[in-house]
Amino acid sequence: MGSKVAVVSPQIAGRHIFDNHSLAGERGSPTRSHARSDLHAVHRFTDVLIIGGGLAGLRAANAVDSHQQVLVVTKDVLRESNSSYAQGGIAGVIDPEDRFENHIRDTMIAGANLCDHDVVNMVIRDGPRRIEELVRWGTQFDGGSDGFELGREGGHSHERIVHAQGDATGAEIMRAVIKRTRALEHVRILENAFTIDLLTHEGRCRGAIISQDAGEPVMVWAKETILCTGGAGQIFRESTNPAVATADGTSLAYRAGVELRDMEFMQFHPTVLYIAGSSRSLITEAIRGEGAYLIDSTGKRFMPEYDERAELAPRDIVSQSTIRQMQLTEHPCVYLDLSHLDSKRVKSRFPGIAETCSKFGLDIASDRIPVRPGAHYMLGGVTVDRQGRTSLPGLWAAGEVTSSGLHGANRLASNSLLEGLVYGAAAGEAASRAACEGAPEMKALPIRQSVSASTEAFDIDDVRVSLKSLMGRLVGVERDGPGLQKAADTIGSYAAYVMNHQFDDEPGWELQNLLTTAAIMVNAAMARTESRGVHFRSDFPAPDDEHWRRHMTIKIDVDGGYPQQTNLLDPASSLAS
Ligand SMILES: Cc1cc2nc3c(=O)[nH]c(=O)nc-3n(C[C@H](O)[C@H](O)[C@H](O)COP(=O)(O)OP(=O)(O)OC[C@H]3O[C@@H](n4cnc5c(N)ncnc54)[C@H](O)[C@@H]3O)c2cc1C
Repeated sequence: MGSKVAVVSPQIAGRHIFDNHSLAGERGSPTRSHARSDLHAVHRFTDVLIIGGGLAGLRAANAVDSHQQVLVVTKDVLRESNSSYAQGGIAGVIDPEDRFENHIRDTMIAGANLCDHDVVNMVIRDGPRRIEELVRWGTQFDGGSDGFELGREGGHSHERIVHAQGDATGAEIMRAVIKRTRALEHVRILENAFTIDLLTHEGRCRGAIISQDAGEPVMVWAKETILCTGGAGQIFRESTNPAVATADGTSLAYRAGVELRDMEFMQFHPTVLYIAGSSRSLITEAIRGEGAYLIDSTGKRFMPEYDERAELAPRDIVSQSTIRQMQLTEHPCVYLDLSHLDSKRVKSRFPGIAETCSKFGLDIASDRIPVRPGAHYMLGGVTVDRQGRTSLPGLWAAGEVTSSGLHGANRLASNSLLEGLVYGAAAGEAASRAACEGAPEMKALPIRQSVSASTEAFDIDDVRVSLKSLMGRLVGVERDGPGLQKAADTIGSYAAYVMNHQFDDEPGWELQNLLTTAAIMVNAAMARTESRGVHFRSDFPAPDDEHWRRHMTIKIDVDGGYPQQTNLLDPASSLAS
C-alpha cells in the first residue's frame, strides 16, 4: 500500500464536504480519480511543474534555474487568464511624493484587520523593482520614457497605478511576459492541458494528472510543483472572470489534503457592465479615479451618502452601497456617469471600455453606463508562507489561487498583479532551490484505481447554470444565515449525483471543482457570524473583533491518499497582526 501513489477522487472528496461523511468504510478501497488504467498510462518527468500560465505561473517559470527542466501547463491557450483581462494596472510606489508606508497603510485599511503586516510590507517594498523588471522585459506602460503616467483607484491615498494602453494593462503585460517565457530554452509550455488532480505519495506532492486536448490522462511526475491556477469567479452568475476561472486549484488542492484559508471572502467588483446580451465586462475602477460618478435610476449621485470617500471608497463599501441603492430604487442596476468629464480624455484613457459600450449603442462620454456588482477576485485560497510554500511538501502556490496574507478580508485595487509577480518569483526561486537540493529521485509509481461511479449522461450545463444563479442570489454581496443554509442544501443535492459521476472530460471535471469550492465557500460564510471586508452578513452586520479577527482554515486529512476526516472550518489558526 505504501508504495502506491494516491489521487483523491473528487467524488469521494466532494461527498466528504457535502455530507460531512466519514469515509472509514472506504478506507482500503483504491482511490483514483480519472485516469483509466495506469497499465497503459503515459508518464512524463520534469524538475518543476507549473500548473497555470497566467502572470504568477509565468513569473515563476522565469525564476527557475536554467539548469532545470520546467513544464508549464495551462488549460486553455496562454493568453486566456485573469491576468490578460486586467484593466486598471499595477499599484507601486513610484512617485517621489508617495511613500511605502502610505501604500502599506492603504492595503491594511482595505484588508479590515486580516492582512499580515509582514507580507504587506514585503510585497509593497518589492513592487517598484518588479514593475521595472516588466519594463526591461518589454512591457510598454503608458507614459513611456517620460516616466509612468500614474492613475488612482479606490482606497489608494495617492496616484500610484501604472497602466498600459489605457485600460488594457493585463494584455500588454502578458504579451511581453509570454514572449519572454516562450524564448526560455528550459521551459516547455503545454496549452489546452487540463490538470485533473495532484499526485501525492507519502505525504508529498509528486506532480499531477493532466489531459491535453481531451486526450488520455498523462501522469506528470515532478520534483516540485507550483500551483498558479487563478480564481473562481465562474462560480457566480455575474462575474468579470473569463471562462477558465473555475476554482480548479482550490478544489484539487483540497482533495489532496492541502490547507485552504479564508474561503468565505469573494470580492465583488462594484461596476460590471449590465446589458442584456453583453458579456459581463468589467468597467475599471480607474474610471472612478478619473472622476466618474455613480448615480441611481433616478439620476441621484448616492455614494457621498454612504462614505466620505464617495466613489473612491474601497470596493466592499461601493459594492454594498450599490446593492442597497438598487434595493431602495427597486432597479436591477445603477449607472456610471462621465458626462461632466472631458470627452476626449475619457475616450483616449479608456479605449477598450469605449469600444465595448459602443457595440451596445452607448457613448461612454455622454450616456449613462448600466453597472452592478459581480464576482471578481477570490481572496481565500491555498495557505502559503512568504516563499509560496503550502502545507503539502513538494507543492508551492502563487497568485490568486492563494491566501498569502496580502489582501486580508478585502483586496486593494491593483494589488493582485503585484502579488502574482512577487509571489510568482518567490515560489519559482524556492521550488527551484528545493528541486536542486533535496527532492527525491523521480519514478513512476503504480496508481490505485478509483471506485466505480455512475457514467450515465446528464446535463452538465443545466447544473452549472443553476449553481451560478444560486450562488449569485444567496452567496453574493449580501448573505444571511437562512440563505446560506439553503445554498448549502441545494449544492448538497446537486452534489449527490454530480460527485458520484465519473467524468472523462473538462466540463464534468470543472463542474465537480465548481461544486467543491462553492460548498467550501458557503460553509465558511455560514461559520463567520460577523461582517468583515467583502463578507457582509445582513444578520450580523457589524465586525466582531473579539471572536472573528482571525483566519479560518479548512483541510481534509489524507493518510496514504485516503481522506479521513474533514477539519471543516477549524478556526484554531493565527490572529492577524
Ligand atoms: C476583468 C479583470 C480585471 C482585473 N483588473 C486588475 C487590475 O487592473 N489590477 C490588478 O492588480 N488585478 C486585476 N485583476 C485581477 C488579476 O488580473 C488577477 O488576480 C491575477 O492576474 C491572477 O493571476 P494568476 O496568475 O494568479 O491567475 P490567472 O492569470 O487567472 O492564471 C491562471 C492560469 O491557470 C490556468 N488554469 C486554471 N485551471 C487549470 C487547470 N485545471 N489546469 C491547467 N491550467 C489551469 C488558466 O488557464 C490560466 O492560465 C483583474 C481581474 C479581472 C478578471
